[in-house]
Amino acid sequence: MSNMPINKTTQIGPKDGYNWTLTEFEETVQMSTYLVAILVSDFKCKSGVSNSSYSNVDVKVCARPNAEDKLDLALNSSVDILGFFEEYYKVKYPLEKLDHAGVPDFKYGAMENWGLAIYREVYFIFDEKSTQTTEINVVRIIAHEISHMWFGNLVTPKWWDDLWLNEGFARFAEHVGSDAVKKHWRMYDRLFDLLLGVIQSDSTEETRAVSSDVNTPEEIDANINPTITYGKGSAIVKMLSYILGDDTFRNGLKNYFETFEYQNVDQSDLWRIMNEQMKLENKSHGVDLLPVMTSWTKQKGHPVVTIKRINDTHISVKQNRFLTDSTVSGLSDTFWQIPLSFSIEELGSSGQSLTNKINSTNLFDKFLWISNTTEETIINLNRTLTDSNFLIANLDMAVFCRINYDEKDWKIIAEQLLTNTQELSARTRAQLISDVFSLSQALYISPEIALNHIRYLENELDYLPWSVFLERVKYFTGQLDSTEIYIPFKKYLQKLVKPYYQKLGWIDNPVTDDWNDRVVRNRLVEFACQVELADCLSQARSIYNDFIDSGIQINVPSFLYRVAFCSSIEQGNDADFEKLFEKIKNTDSNLKSSMLYGLSCSKSTANLNKYLNDQMSSNSVISAIRNVLSKPSGVYVAWNFFKQNWENIYKDGSGISGIVSDLVKKLKTQSDLNDIESFFSDKNLTQGDRESLNVAKNQLLSNIKWFSQEFNSIKNWTSGLNIGNQVNYRLPTNLIPNSYDIKIQPYIGDSWKDKAFTFDGAISINFTCAEPTKKIIFHAIDLDLDTDTFTIESTDDNEIEKMFTEDKITNFIELNLKKECQKGSDYVLKMNYTGSIIKNLYGFYRSSYKNELDETEYLATTHFQPTDARRAFPCFDEPALKASFKLTIMRHKNFSSSIFNTPLTKSSPNGDWFEDEFAETPKMSTYLVAFVVSNFKKITNQTSKGIEVEVFGRPEKIENGEGDFSLRESQLILDFFENYFNLPYPLAKSSQIGVPDFNAGAMENWGAVIYRETALFYNPKTDALVNKQRVSSVVSHELAHQWFGNLVTPDWWNDIWLNEGFASWVEYLGVNYTHPEWNFLDLFYVQKLKVMELDSLESSHSVSFDVNDPGEINSLFDKISYDKGSSIIRMMNAFLTEKTFRSGVSDYLKDFAYKNAKQDDLWQYLTNQSYVDGSLDKNLNVKDIMDTWTLKKGYPYVMVERKYAEKEMVLTQKWFLLNPASKIKDTEEYNNYKWYIPFTFTSLEDPIFDFEKKPTWLEPDQKEVKISTQNIDDESWVIGNLKHSAFMRVNYDQDNWDLLIEQLKANHAVIDPINRATLLDDSFNLGRAEIIDQLLFLRITQYLANEKENLPFVPAFIGLDYIGNMIANDYFAYNNYKNYIINLMNSTYQSLGWDDVSDDLIDLQISTLQLMCSFGFEDCITEARSRFDDWINNDIALPSNFKILIYSTVVKYGDEETWLNLYQKAIGISDNTEKLRIFRGLASSREASLLSIILNSASDKNIIRSQDETSVISYVAGSPLGRKLAFDHLEDNWDELFERHGDVSFTLSSLIDSVTKYLNTNSYLLRLVNFAERNSNLGVTKKAFEQAIENVQFNTRWTMKNLNSIKEWLNSNL
Ligand SMILES: [Zn+2]
Ligand SMILES: [Zn+2]
Repeated sequence: MSNMPINKTTQIGPKDGYNWTLTEFEETVQMSTYLVAILVSDFKCKSGVSNSSYSNVDVKVCARPNAEDKLDLALNSSVDILGFFEEYYKVKYPLEKLDHAGVPDFKYGAMENWGLAIYREVYFIFDEKSTQTTEINVVRIIAHEISHMWFGNLVTPKWWDDLWLNEGFARFAEHVGSDAVKKHWRMYDRLFDLLLGVIQSDSTEETRAVSSDVNTPEEIDANINPTITYGKGSAIVKMLSYILGDDTFRNGLKNYFETFEYQNVDQSDLWRIMNEQMKLENKSHGVDLLPVMTSWTKQKGHPVVTIKRINDTHISVKQNRFLTDSTVSGLSDTFWQIPLSFSIEELGSSGQSLTNKINSTNLFDKFLWISNTTEETIINLNRTLTDSNFLIANLDMAVFCRINYDEKDWKIIAEQLLTNTQELSARTRAQLISDVFSLSQALYISPEIALNHIRYLENELDYLPWSVFLERVKYFTGQLDSTEIYIPFKKYLQKLVKPYYQKLGWIDNPVTDDWNDRVVRNRLVEFACQVELADCLSQARSIYNDFIDSGIQINVPSFLYRVAFCSSIEQGNDADFEKLFEKIKNTDSNLKSSMLYGLSCSKSTANLNKYLNDQMSSNSVISAIRNVLSKPSGVYVAWNFFKQNWENIYKDGSGISGIVSDLVKKLKTQSDLNDIESFFSDKNLTQGDRESLNVAKNQLLSNIKWFSQEFNSIKNWTSGLNIGNQVNYRLPTNLIPNSYDIKIQPYIGDSWKDKAFTFDGAISINFTCAEPTKKIIFHAIDLDLDTDTFTIESTDDNEIEKMFTEDKITNFIELNLKKECQKGSDYVLKMNYTGSIIKNLYGFYRSSYKNELDETEYLATTHFQPTDARRAFPCFDEPALKASFKLTIMRHKNFSSSIFNTPLTKSSPNGDWFEDEFAETPKMSTYLVAFVVSNFKKITNQTSKGIEVEVFGRPEKIENGEGDFSLRESQLILDFFENYFNLPYPLAKSSQIGVPDFNAGAMENWGAVIYRETALFYNPKTDALVNKQRVSSVVSHELAHQWFGNLVTPDWWNDIWLNEGFASWVEYLGVNYTHPEWNFLDLFYVQKLKVMELDSLESSHSVSFDVNDPGEINSLFDKISYDKGSSIIRMMNAFLTEKTFRSGVSDYLKDFAYKNAKQDDLWQYLTNQSYVDGSLDKNLNVKDIMDTWTLKKGYPYVMVERKYAEKEMVLTQKWFLLNPASKIKDTEEYNNYKWYIPFTFTSLEDPIFDFEKKPTWLEPDQKEVKISTQNIDDESWVIGNLKHSAFMRVNYDQDNWDLLIEQLKANHAVIDPINRATLLDDSFNLGRAEIIDQLLFLRITQYLANEKENLPFVPAFIGLDYIGNMIANDYFAYNNYKNYIINLMNSTYQSLGWDDVSDDLIDLQISTLQLMCSFGFEDCITEARSRFDDWINNDIALPSNFKILIYSTVVKYGDEETWLNLYQKAIGISDNTEKLRIFRGLASSREASLLSIILNSASDKNIIRSQDETSVISYVAGSPLGRKLAFDHLEDNWDELFERHGDVSFTLSSLIDSVTKYLNTNSYLLRLVNFAERNSNLGVTKKAFEQAIENVQFNTRWTMKNLNSIKEWLNSNL
């Protein structure tokens, strides 16, 4: 076969043993060489004849013989399309015949050789087994090649630089041609879809012009670029057809073909012909196409046109080059000639759609030519624009450009789409989606506009906008998928996709499907599963299960198998992964690549690495990396793997640019970028690879920029979303649980192989049907429920379906009854399940320790508060859904004990196991359930009422007597609280269990309290007093909860502050009962100084606030809840009096026992009691008072202004804000921010400091309160807030301050120690807030030379320490300061010395020695050194209270060898508490290199337990040098730290606080801000970062303001 018909065929031969055929063809017309074609084959052909008004042409389609029956589509299409083009061009097909042949090997898709088009076979043959894509391609490509027969073949470009015209035209015409023969395919819409992809590719700096100079064969070849040459080329041709209108355009084409037939042209010839045609038809309007068209063909890129409303009659229009990468700025002088069409529409109108409009009117008149400038052009619309009008420009994307509107128009357009989606055509809708995403990515518009715009997708049921959306949303999901807002964002996407997903489903349905729905089905289902739409996940799972378990393969496209495997592995557990992994090994299924892809979706790093390593050996490693990379959890796994295996991956020296670029673009942060730089810096890349790496790096840079600028507004937007459209985390109220019967068999230890660290569970849940429903919804997460075992017992013969759905976000499991449950009836749901004993310290988890033989002993324990009971058993996991629990634990004989909330009732041997049964609990909340299986030993005792008290711990601790102290404390404190609450302890026993790995200090599980070891064990030989006090406090706190919290439980978590605040206050009462000598009631105040500081920051929060999801619930367990909570409870205790408070609480506990209550319930009981006792006036009530303290953040200071002449004092209140620069102070809000304040005071005349003194109330609506001071001498002071009973500060007029200072200097003992402390703390902080002079605090400290009590020193040291840290960088100031302190403290130092002192002075002694040693007081250093030497050389134990002090001192003033020896000692030590003390000491070093060793050791699990890592880092932050290093460390290791500790709210937040609290320069501030912005994954630490930033700002300001005056003051006071 060849271009022309055969002229003659001659048989020759036999010759050389063969028969030959000589075929001669007719001579061709004048044509180009490249169009010549010859084909010799044994192909079979089918033939037909095309008919048109111009000619009849013989058409043949040919392919290999066994494909003959697959040629119908090709034949029919070519016959029809050839006829169509003759009519379209109005020019006869120039040859006599047209052959098409499909060949197995072909470089391009097809080639338009004149008269003999040749196709790659896959684009040519088709049968019903082929995909829809193939079907479309066959028709489209045939149309493309046929169109060339005129445009390209009949008239040919002179040179290859006009290839774009040839191909752009054909790409345009292929859609016109195939649209003509396949109307329902909406081929013109597909062109749209294609162009929206092309315009995106054309938005980079690296793009090129469609028309470019080419010379060498390589350049010519490179010019065959599908995106720009073909794609953008077709957009330009399409624009031409719009400018002219279809008729004129086709007339022009006819003229062009006739003028230049069998000749060559360049592009200007076409423009000229078209110009002439316009003139001829009187349509030129003075436009010359030559400059218009060349502005598009010779320049790279394309414009964005920004349209803004100036007023209601004028708009402005402006063009710029559009670049997605916002880090490069477009060339400002590039401009295009833009024929801009636009239409003004009325919101809500539902007339003709815009697409119809554009087709039916002569658009030329509507064009607005924007040309020759990038300046703003003002346009008079000659009509009025109202607020319900909106503009739509560039109708039908006539011009290859983006349109940006002003915010108002975007808003109305979004509104229009929501109210009447169809009004704008599907193409326009698609175009708008494409524009909003691109404009947002390029920072033209805020992401909120894009996110608001896509709201309408809920109504969108057309494939075209979805097709565009599914492509474009990837940028957003990719940027957000590892941030804390991904969950709400995902929820939003779920909602959008659900309706269309429901329409489409998984399986092609010829009846209900639109033909085009099939185009997006695969991608849509993939997306639905990606955003975890419940139905998608369960479909995926069932397809997966059928295939994996039973080998059943259903009729869905193999692509959807990919989705099914991926989703099931992503959502599944390790066992699922293993099953699939094993299955792949011995499969030859056609689904193998989908199965491999499935593996790559695991969320477990270990699994991903297993998969990658496996693929490494099987040589498909590149595609494996690409697979892993496609999921958020895989990005860093893939990147690390790539780096580690570089040598193997880069074997042949090139061809990896694709994967490198994919990897780099997926990374997220500046430090990733640094990592990339450093990794590739010494790698030998080819030129091409290097270039594509650079392009990808720019993309990453641009992503970083986008993210840092836009994240906050997206976050705001998402939080707004939650209000309107909240994810419901609360269970429905139809079912009420009554009791649980649970059996658990844990396999603890590695020896269990497959079952290692898993457990089998069997549960039956008895519940009452409160409202009829078919749905049983409860909580479970990461449990494998065995559907086969689902049963329901009922009185109504109900049945349960053996399947369930799972919502990963809410952790809801939904089961279905066959019929609705009967109101009031009880049901028993039973099922078996399995789960894992995990490593994380929540749910049912493992812990371990080394036994005396140095072997690892495991144990399994629980921590359920707040929302992790659901990880151990299916349950209604909300605090108000109380039920009774019966537990049986199957305990292997290797473990000596199991512990539960209630006593063990029976233990029956069963083979290697014991069946341990426990007594049924009373009604209680799920979060209070606890069980432990271990080899712990115990000691026991009884309370005076005969309650069994137990202390459990590892044998070493118990045998060493370290549990003895807590046993005694528990026993006494239980007695105390029975008396205090006037209610018996509700259970039969109380266990205290110390486990080696525990996140919180302790957890108050009812009857089975679990402690961190340091909170339960006390070793009198080695531990300090502070350890002893901690044990006592924690035991007291947890035991208080046994009533307050456990017996009566908050309804919901937003009242957790009450629970914790209460326990944190009464714990002091308990300790005071067992150890009155510790003076704990006074210590309370100084131990809450920190929270007073925190709560004076704007970033603080109220103690009570609404929470929903587990993350929010967890964030409630912070210092504010515990410490401010307890402070305001103490305040209540003071103003109500102890008597009223206790009776009210006791009645409340009795009435709500085994039930739940809200804070308002307690307020009511206290109010009632206070009226009975007369402790509160009837015009006040506890709720009004306490709401001002619990529902808003912060606290007040009271200004006491004495009017000496008038013999009165005026009290006013203001919100105390530490930050003097706070903007809030200028607002109304600040002035109206008031509390109910119980103000107590006294004076020199009556120096009695009564905690329960009846207060004067300052009420929120009072401007001021006047109090007579008739009985107070002008020369005597007054003092407010006796014993600091109210959570606030007090300020005085200057005279009164002076009087107080004189008193302190003369005889401080007249003033109560707590109030002496308060004067110091208030003056320090009022000074910092710039309310008074900071020097006032320093003046007060002068009296400390005579102070003998510990209490006032606590705030004094905080203030002095702060000032010291702030001035540490000024040598002279610091030196003077050091001398001031040494003088000040000398007498205290001398009087306390180094020998034993009474318990209440131990703290002071420690702090004093600490201070003197750290300031280099010689005697102190010598004493420390000699004790240290005694210990090293003579093995004389260090005094336990001074250990840290001694370690720090010898390290600070010692040499490197001392340090290294001590470090070696620390590493070798098994006692964890002691190890941490030494590390604290080691952190005092002044050597950066040594401090770095500590920082590195912190993350080494062999040296430091993971739970202690952050503490060790904060030790280092104790000095200016250490702070710098610790800060660097935090920046460099944030991701790892977050990975390890991000799930615990306390840990990272306090680390951030300790590292940043003394930073006071602008450069640190900048780093901190950048750090916070760069890291999307701040999670639970977000608040801590906000606080840190505020703090550093503040420190910087303080230093600038105060440094000089403090210097002067020190000079004159030395
Ligand atoms: Zn072509
Ligand atoms: Zn607590």
